[in-house]
Amino acid sequence: MAEGGAANPRPIEFANALGRHAWPGIATDRGAQLLALQFQLERSQWWTPERIHMRQQSQLALLLQHAASTVPYYREVWQAEGGLSPPVTEFGRLPELSRFQVQEFFAELVSNSPPPAHGGISEQFTSGSLGTPLRFLASELHGFLWHGLTLRDHLWHGRDLQAKLAAIRTKVAETSLPNWGGLLTEAVTTGPCITLNIGNDIDDQAHWLLHHRPAYLITHPSNARALALHFLRGDVGGLDSILEVRVYGESVPADLASLVQRAWGARLSATYSSEECGYIALQCPVSGLYHVQSEHVLVEVLDDDGASCAVGETGRVVVTPLHNFAMPLIRYAIGDYAEVGPVCPCGRGLPTLAKIHGRLRNMLCRPDGQSHWPSFPAEMWLAVAPVRQFRLIQHRLDLIEIRYVMERPLLPDETIRLESALEQHLGHPFRFEWIRVPRLEPSVNHKYEDFVSEIPSG
Ligand SMILES: [Zn+2]
Repeated sequence: MAEGGAANPRPIEFANALGRHAWPGIATDRGAQLLALQFQLERSQWWTPERIHMRQQSQLALLLQHAASTVPYYREVWQAEGGLSPPVTEFGRLPELSRFQVQEFFAELVSNSPPPAHGGISEQFTSGSLGTPLRFLASELHGFLWHGLTLRDHLWHGRDLQAKLAAIRTKVAETSLPNWGGLLTEAVTTGPCITLNIGNDIDDQAHWLLHHRPAYLITHPSNARALALHFLRGDVGGLDSILEVRVYGESVPADLASLVQRAWGARLSATYSSEECGYIALQCPVSGLYHVQSEHVLVEVLDDDGASCAVGETGRVVVTPLHNFAMPLIRYAIGDYAEVGPVCPCGRGLPTLAKIHGRLRNMLCRPDGQSHWPSFPAEMWLAVAPVRQFRLIQHRLDLIEIRYVMERPLLPDETIRLESALEQHLGHPFRFEWIRVPRLEPSVNHKYEDFVSEIPSG
């Protein structure tokens, strides 16, 4: 396990569970398992893509076999008579599973014989970003992989594990903890962790950060963006303790890295995950591409005809988590779109995604038939007027409503200048309707969408 680079002068301290013993660290059984997994992950990341694929296929074969013999849904849909599973070579022809089907067929998707060795099973809920609440079951093994990949992400990015971590997220109260929590602390020594609910007002969040002065901040991209803009406006004092902002749960705005750099002199890293799939991809510390976590998930990026996209092409993300035998999700269409990335210059054999786009409903449709996921740099707005927040809603092919939060209404000449800037960004002279609102609520589960299309897809 590599020691940190120049950005991380403090070496990793391994956890020690033994009394009357100081060094080298002897972890708990679970902590030792986590380190043993890391030892393997450190090696498998450098394998050739062919070797990674081969080992992944062996895990996939087991999963398909298990699903065919113990999961009623797949037995029926695959017509897996006698519990015979489809061969892995037929994998690409198996039907996809939508989020709606997971909701609808929850009971049928549950394995009637999960392997006891994979640990206890917990029921979990996620609302995701589509506003479709999802219930699913996850084995302890599935959760264990989550912790293993969290540690991999820390190591990739050379984090000082003994520094202070701040998390502003959903499902937490304001707390102050002695360590980063979870299984991680049974493997390595970690510093203090503070948490705050993401529902708090941005100004309150800013003062909380100033009070605690963390080295790392983890939160949603839109929240990080709002915080960075708040500091850049000079609404609160300067904060120089933050080394890195780690974001998850939404697509990452194009200008976020530069905002984070300007606001705090910090770097940005992003993870691509979902509660039901775990980590799907982690950002490469060298190239910034997203490495698919092939030891844990099989990821396909497919075009409208179901064929695999080539490098540079954008398609639907279809995920198969490889270790959740409690409720196997096989060829699960998660609802996101991504661009297939090239071979990474870092030398890792893990495949890459170049960009992870939002949902289809965050895609702009132009009257000329073109479509893309728009992004709106803060500079574009702030060069014209002190717009604090905005959301664009495409009602029709030629009509976009713009809701904005600002202390005063836009002046007519500001509207004209913004419309001209938007026309350039969107690639079409849309008709705009401006509505000033007191505040914009996050769409779902504190996820924020700056662009929503109401045009039916397909
Ligand atoms: Zn890489």
